[in-house]
Amino acid sequence: MATNSMNLEDIPSESLMSELLRRMKCASKPDKRLILIGPPGSGKGTQSPIIKDEYCLCHLATGDMLRAAVAAKTPLGIKAKEAMDKGELVSDDLVVGIIDEAMKKPSCKKGFILDGFPRTVGQAQKLDDMLGKQGVKIDKVLDFAIDDAVLEERITGRWIHPASGRTYHTKFAPPKVPGLDDVTGEPLVQRKDDTAAVLKSRLDAFHKQTQPVIDYYSEKGIVAKLHAEKPQKEVTDEVKKVLS
Ligand code: ADP
Ligand code: AMP
Repeated sequence: MATNSMNLEDIPSESLMSELLRRMKCASKPDKRLILIGPPGSGKGTQSPIIKDEYCLCHLATGDMLRAAVAAKTPLGIKAKEAMDKGELVSDDLVVGIIDEAMKKPSCKKGFILDGFPRTVGQAQKLDDMLGKQGVKIDKVLDFAIDDAVLEERITGRWIHPASGRTYHTKFAPPKVPGLDDVTGEPLVQRKDDTAAVLKSRLDAFHKQTQPVIDYYSEKGIVAKLHAEKPQKEVTDEVKKVLS
């Protein structure tokens, strides 16, 4: 994207054209505010870029934001690290603050995809308060329903490109060249918490603290249940059907 110091004349015509086409396409899209809920490895991060491009939304993944803060050793990252390493949830106040700030970005103008937030009923209530003040509400909650037994293979085979958030899997979505990002050729990494042992605590936190969030939104009649154990393309088809 152009920065303030960049002259429009310096931007290649193809980039200007594709940005113009994107904006024209986006202008006709309805606003959408979505939540993706599911256990670790259920496919939220894989489906998010597809939904984001289709509906011109921003993708806000609290896990990604927290990992960036940990890597940069910011005060937030220092506070969050210990819980994250153990597979436990960080405090509601920490994540509510980063979401409140992130939703103000211009890229969230037509709405957002919340991926990995809210993870407790307390977070959901705080989110409702924040949105209520702006006179808007959540349109749909996508419930990535999946059996725990499938998740260990998904989690231990996951490789990510940290700069872009692109996700690969050694068996289910391998990169063209093993260990390298398809787009930039940069090395892929495994997350520190993507081990069978830490997955157990993360699943425990999901069932105890996050499952009640699905009930919270079910009462509002806005939850759509997906068959997240299906192959990636079939899940994408289900998502598109639910959002059409
Ligand atoms: P989440 O964001 O919910 O934690 P991801 O989207 O990162 O989960 O998916 C976890 C791993 O499983 C990744 O390595 C991804 O490539 C792979 N994956 C995602 N969706 C599917 C699917 N439907 N079938 C098989 N593997 C999948
Ligand atoms: P994720 O990338 O969604 O798997 O999240 C990685 C880790 O970040 C989790 O195990 C938690 O420690 C922390 N985290 C992410 N989102 C939240 C949230 N909404 N509430 C509390 N902790 C979170």
